[in-house]
Amino acid sequence: MTLSPDAKRFHDVAGRLSLPSQAFIDGRFQAAHSGRTFETLNPATGNVIGLVAKAEAADVDLAVTAARRSFRDGSWSRCAPEHRKSVLLRLAQLVRDHAEELAVLESIDSGKTITDCLAEIGEHVPTFFQWYGELADKSFGKVAPTGEDALALILKEPVGVVGLVLPWNFPLLMAAWKLAPALACGCSTVVKPAEQTPLSALRLAELAMEAGLPAGVLNVVPGFGETAGQAIGRHRDIDVVSFTGSTEVGALFLRYASESNLKPVGLEMGGKSPLVVLDDAEIDDHLISNAVSAACWNGGQNCSANMRQIVHAKQKEAFLQKVVEGVTALKVGDPLDPETQMGAMVTHEHMERVASYVDKGRREGARVAYANDGKHGQGFFLNPTVFDGVTPDMAIAREEIFGPVLGVIEAADNAEALDIALDTPYGLHASVFTRDMDKAMHFARRLPCGTVSINCFSEGDVKTPFGGYKQSGSLARDNGVEAMDQYVQTKTVWFHLKPTG
Ligand code: NAP
Ligand code: MG
Repeated sequence: MTLSPDAKRFHDVAGRLSLPSQAFIDGRFQAAHSGRTFETLNPATGNVIGLVAKAEAADVDLAVTAARRSFRDGSWSRCAPEHRKSVLLRLAQLVRDHAEELAVLESIDSGKTITDCLAEIGEHVPTFFQWYGELADKSFGKVAPTGEDALALILKEPVGVVGLVLPWNFPLLMAAWKLAPALACGCSTVVKPAEQTPLSALRLAELAMEAGLPAGVLNVVPGFGETAGQAIGRHRDIDVVSFTGSTEVGALFLRYASESNLKPVGLEMGGKSPLVVLDDAEIDDHLISNAVSAACWNGGQNCSANMRQIVHAKQKEAFLQKVVEGVTALKVGDPLDPETQMGAMVTHEHMERVASYVDKGRREGARVAYANDGKHGQGFFLNPTVFDGVTPDMAIAREEIFGPVLGVIEAADNAEALDIALDTPYGLHASVFTRDMDKAMHFARRLPCGTVSINCFSEGDVKTPFGGYKQSGSLARDNGVEAMDQYVQTKTVWFHLKPTG
């Protein structure tokens, strides 16, 4: 393989990385209690890149004990909020300083493109630590109205020890989405990264110590869902779980909670989000590049991806032609090449699962408008597919595929487009394209989903809450000031005051 100079530079960084391999508990790296390890692969090559401690229930126990001790000693939970702010700001800067190393680590562990990893880790992850760090000393309680014989304080207190269970599609970004507000609130944490992508969260824990976080406040237990994940879900000394992943596993966390200590569970789950092109939308380059990103960004491994592209009949042919051109131009291949726009699927199994949906779409009678058998090396690469003639009852229109399979559904008019968009058990995100702000607002109000983006494909940013309606989420939200609600308890303190004359 001939590498461009930029790609070679990132391959060289990859060659020099020393990979974390142990769990991070109570401020230090340690082997799993059982001594077991598991392999983590580079999806772009299919090769094992390292062995990682396989944390199980005993390790989760150790992590929870350390987290509880740190929560009780107050070194983080009761320190001055200005101190929490300064540590989180230092962590933001350390992530920036190590962005290239972390981005390469993320890319080789996940198959994500280096360009996306640099954006996520160089910009977004530090922004989260900085923004919530800044909030740490600007979050006030309340005083309730009373007569003069009383003073009623409404306090927000850190909830305690929180379990954070993460997916593999944005490994470090999802860690930051949850850790930044949890730490800003004063909680102690036990993080379980996805088994496919354990490395970046482990390195982050080390940087957090360097930033001044006390030992025990951030523990990382790499391991499998059925063991480490379930042990977190069922732990009686974990006060809250915040989970991002599939709807199926989210449901398990509700069961774990009901069968253990009834801990509240914040859920961010799957989606089958619509992108709706109304009769008056302009089918220009902006719309098309958003439609292509909506389906293919991160290889379609994105919970808010718009895979159901519902297009008004009079716009359909122009849209289809241009969206196929856009998808055709996508550069799939070596994730460490900055020119690459789509890297590898996270695992061989996931690649096969996505490919099986392409077969299913063909069998269901959808027409393949774009497909490509081109190969990109030994790894788990999959080219995008565009289907035309998708109908709302097809599995490819109903089930979350989590890969680059864009389905175009024709709607006779705007009202039918709305009906089709609504016909899903999910409610995470929708994109609507129109030149008419009245129509845009009509759709935004009617669509039961946590985020509606108008004339773009967007999840919002650190300032805007993100989460799902229906089977895409619980009432919990990541991001925005609202994320803090997951990690605080509300306490009333009622003083009786004696009249003093
Ligand atoms: P997943 O299989 O549900 O896994 C998520 C996490 O749960 C992983 O850490 C996993 O551990 C763990 N887990 C799996 N089985 C478990 C069990 N029986 N008990 C306890 N924990 C268990 O999801 P994924 O495949 O990693 O991620 C893709 C899904 O995440 C998609 O459905 C996507 O839509 C969703 N997602 C949602 C959002 C959002 O904000 N709404 C964002 C990103 C992704 P292992 O890694 O060991 O399996
Ligand atoms: Mg990996």
